[in-house]
Formats: sequence, C-alpha cells, structure tokens
Amino acid sequence: MTPLLDHGYMRLIETWGSDQAIVEAARQSTQKGFLGWPQDEKLLRYMLEHRHDSPFEFAGVVIEVQAPIFVFREWHRHRVWSYSEASARYAEMPELFYVPCMNRMMVGGQSISNKQSSGSSLSQSVALNAWKEIERSSRDAFQTYHNLLEAGVARELARLVLPVNTYSRMRAQVNLRNALAFLKLRLDESAQYEIRVYAQELEDILVKAFPRTMGLVS
Ligand SMILES: Cc1cc2nc3c(=O)[nH]c(=O)nc-3n(C[C@H](O)[C@H](O)[C@H](O)COP(=O)(O)OP(=O)(O)OC[C@H]3O[C@@H](n4cnc5c(N)ncnc54)[C@H](O)[C@@H]3O)c2cc1C
Repeated sequence: MTPLLDHGYMRLIETWGSDQAIVEAARQSTQKGFLGWPQDEKLLRYMLEHRHDSPFEFAGVVIEVQAPIFVFREWHRHRVWSYSEASARYAEMPELFYVPCMNRMMVGGQSISNKQSSGSSLSQSVALNAWKEIERSSRDAFQTYHNLLEAGVARELARLVLPVNTYSRMRAQVNLRNALAFLKLRLDESAQYEIRVYAQELEDILVKAFPRTMGLVS
C-alpha cells in the first residue's frame, strides 16, 4: 500500500494477464503464440504504434484507492473502468479530508494561461490563510455532519454537508488498454495535480506488472 496525499493511498489487489498473454492474444491468425523476448517486443511496439489496441485488453489490474471525492469525480469520468465505491448511505464517512500541503498552496493561485488550472504563486501569508480556511471549513462541515447524525438524520441526508475534499474509498478494475488511455490524460501536466499523484502510482504498479509494454510507452 502506498500512501498518497495526506490521507489517501493506492493498494494493488491483483493483476491479471502478462506481456506474454498480450502477445499470445494478438497471434490468433497464425496460432504461433509467444516466440520469446526480445523479439516479441517488436510486435508489442507495432501494435502500440498502429493502434492495434484490443490485445492490450487481455491484461489488467485491480486496485483499492482512497482519495478525495473531487479526485473520484474526475476518475469516474473514465467510464470503461469498473468501480465499487464505499457507500455514504450505508456507512458513516470517516473524518478524513484533504488539505493541500503548503508547497501546493504556494503555487495554488489561479493560472492566467489556463482557465482550469492553478500554478500562479501566492504569497506565504495568503497561502497560509487559505490553508487555514480549508482546514477550518472542513472541520466545521464534519461537526455539522456529526450533529445531524446525532439528531437522527439519515446518513444519506447528513452527507449533504460534506465537502468534495472528503476522502472516499473504492476498488477499481481496468484493462491495460484503458489504463494506458487514463495515464495519457491524467499524467499530462494539464490534469490536476491531485489526480496526477494517483496516476503516477498506477503507472508504477503497471511498470512492475507489465514491464515490456510499459517500457514502450513510459
Ligand atoms: C484535462 C482534462 C480536463 C477535463 N475537463 C472536463 C470538463 O471540464 N468537463 C467534463 O465534463 N469533463 C472533463 N474532462 C473529462 C473528459 O471529457 C473525459 O470524460 C475523460 O477524460 C474520460 O475520457 P474518455 O471519455 O476517453 O474515457 P472513457 O469514458 O473511459 O471512455 C474510453 C473510450 O470509450 C469510448 N466511449 C466511452 N463512452 C462513450 C460514449 N458515450 N460515446 C462514445 N464513445 C464512448 C471513447 O472512445 C472513449 O475514448 C476532462 C478531462 C481532462 C483530462
């Protein structure tokens, strides 16, 4: 399990398939199967370069992830993954919320060139005040959440006051083809820093599990 951000993590549950299984899946016309490394690396490279993508669906990964809800909002846009997320209707949300570290806050001003990004510098006092505001308002939200629960309000309604930096947890499954598409988008500098942290960890897991394929793309 790798800790990520202030209270998040990614844990590998399992991988399936292999670089060899991808090659074998691709060789259906000739039934020649796997011929060995390094020569079959040429086939992997050819398929990647020519978007012969489907053999890369014969390998993949299952991970468990704890991340802020706003990271999951972006992640779940990748519709071809499979997800199972903890239910805040069923179980009380643990009091875990993301507060960016000061280094992140110091470059947390609104970007001028990119309307979706941060990146402009903030003075130390502005960054510190913003950090305190995020911390305080998150704590207040959880206090209200607990007050509502204690008053007998259902979990599905009490959760309405929780902010998007609240941590949630999910299991997620993806094949290598779709994992590569995710990494292309979410490792890019244009993606938000917080999801990039998770994408980087996923890439590290995939490099260990599928070194031949990942050696050609990363
Ligand atoms: C930097 C960045 C900024 C973004 N900003 C926004 C934003 O402002 N607002 C917003 O809503 N989203 C935003 N997104 C999300 C983005 O629009 C995609 O939804 C997300 O990246 C998932 O990509 P995808 O659809 O290729 O992935 P998946 O949903 O995993 O789909 C994989 C592939 O399957 C096919 N597919 C899946 N579903 C369909 C479908 N219904 N119809 C046709 N083909 C389909 C497509 O070929 C697709 O590429 C942003 C993403 C990034 C990386």
